[in-house]
Amino acid sequence: MVEKKCLLCQETENKTILVTMNFKGKEIHMCPSHLPILIHDPQKLVGIIEGAENFIAG
Ligand SMILES: [Zn+2]
Repeated sequence: MVEKKCLLCQETENKTILVTMNFKGKEIHMCPSHLPILIHDPQKLVGIIEGAENFIAG
């Protein structure tokens, strides 16, 4: 079984709340302290999430 981890800080669900999202058929997990990056600064996810450049506005 693959352990769920925040994409950015690698914290597991045993240490923090993880929010699970789905993108391109994959599950993505992020902790609440990194969700603002997804909302406000998604270009930082390029190279971390495959295809992230597709959801960057503007
Ligand atoms: Zn995190």
